[in-house]
Amino acid sequence: MRLVMKFGGVAVADGRRIRAVAELIKRIKEEGNKNKELVVVTSALFKVTDMLHENAMRLAREGDIDDAKEFVAEIRERHEGAASEAIADEQILGELREEIKRRTSDMEKALIGICLLGELTARSCDYIVSFGERLAAPILAGTLRSLGIDACHLSGGEAGIITNDEYGNAQLIKGAEGDIRARIVPLLAQNKVPVVCGYIGETRRGIITTLGRGGSDYTATLIGAAIDADEIWLWKETEGIMSADPKIVPNARKVPYISYIEAMELSYFGASILHPRAIEPVIEKDIPIRVKNLTNPEDEGTLIGKEPEHTKKAAKAITLIEDTAIINIAGSGMSSISEVAARVFNALAAEKIDVIMVSQGSSERTISIAVERTKLHRAIEAIKRINTTGTSPIIREFTSNSNVSAVGVVGAGMAGTPGVAGKVFSALGKEGISVIMISQGSSEYNISFVVERGDAYRAARAIHEMFEMGR
Ligand code: ASP
Ligand code: MG
Repeated sequence: MRLVMKFGGVAVADGRRIRAVAELIKRIKEEGNKNKELVVVTSALFKVTDMLHENAMRLAREGDIDDAKEFVAEIRERHEGAASEAIADEQILGELREEIKRRTSDMEKALIGICLLGELTARSCDYIVSFGERLAAPILAGTLRSLGIDACHLSGGEAGIITNDEYGNAQLIKGAEGDIRARIVPLLAQNKVPVVCGYIGETRRGIITTLGRGGSDYTATLIGAAIDADEIWLWKETEGIMSADPKIVPNARKVPYISYIEAMELSYFGASILHPRAIEPVIEKDIPIRVKNLTNPEDEGTLIGKEPEHTKKAAKAITLIEDTAIINIAGSGMSSISEVAARVFNALAAEKIDVIMVSQGSSERTISIAVERTKLHRAIEAIKRINTTGTSPIIREFTSNSNVSAVGVVGAGMAGTPGVAGKVFSALGKEGISVIMISQGSSEYNISFVVERGDAYRAARAIHEMFEMGR
């Protein structure tokens, strides 16, 4: 059995938790089948990635070198503290302290450089945030060694995660699966447990990149697909994938089985449970992913895989993007709606603004688009600029509303089942909630709509109830 397991977030918040994770890995490694091969992927210690991001930006702005040193000392202490809490063995601890010292002093050099330059490029940002994972992996590997497991740690690049140079959102390059196999499989053959830094990769030239926030999931599935793992287990602090956010819908339940497509729809639509691209690598090889519960390791969690017919549901889960804004754009009489749409999407793409939903009214040459609220201002600026280029104005007018939420209802059984949309909107009607915008892709795995922000939770609860989700 070949298994890739990923740990991140709160699971690796401090030494006590890292120790518990290492004990869990040891138990899994040693129970049952003796030929079990494990690859472990770890993210940074809880919140460290955020801290690195925020401080790198602040230091570039303020340029205070003493501040940079203070911050590095804080990071060093946090990791040394975690290591000494997790590991009793003095020799392993001593080596680890040296390693932490070396890495944090590299980090200090980079941060001082940023103070002096007064700017933070995407490339240097990736380099700096990579220290989160590059400090965490040696600690987890050291803890495993202190428990008698032959573990070693690898950076993303060392594990064969070779990417393009799209810093902050890098993609695996063609052929890198071969690199991953070549790096990982020989270690498994020696019965070693590789502990790989999640989230980070490297270009062919050896420059560090990152795969996007939450990217450790993605690292795990990339490795799992490349080495033909039997399963990939993503350990979380939740029961698994839930039918809704329990903070919003109190009777939300764990979804025991979810298809690849549903999980993708959910993660693209704001459910923070998975990195949006994490599913892609495993679909073709049909490798099951399990979202497992750290606080109840025996539980099956949620299984993400090819959907068997009998578990298909028209509406399985509901998710919200609370902070949404919509922009309604009316084209000028001179231009066709496709021309308007082309120009608008080009302008947004150039600003790297993702569109959550689109809908087009056939009459008045209008298109409505939903974007994250934090991106509204940039989106509007980009749209305004469209009329200033070209000869005749493309856009007649536009309005926006930033006090809305987007709701997505996901279920593979929706395809070809009549009446699902009817039920969704009649649930809203009964609650007296008016719908501002609607969209359903022709794949029919998702119905999404926009409502006033103040109505969003009620809308989610009503639909959850109507479809008996989680039951
Ligand atoms: N540490 C990275 C982040 O916070 C990657 C991850 O957590 O998966 O985004
Ligand atoms: Mg993290």
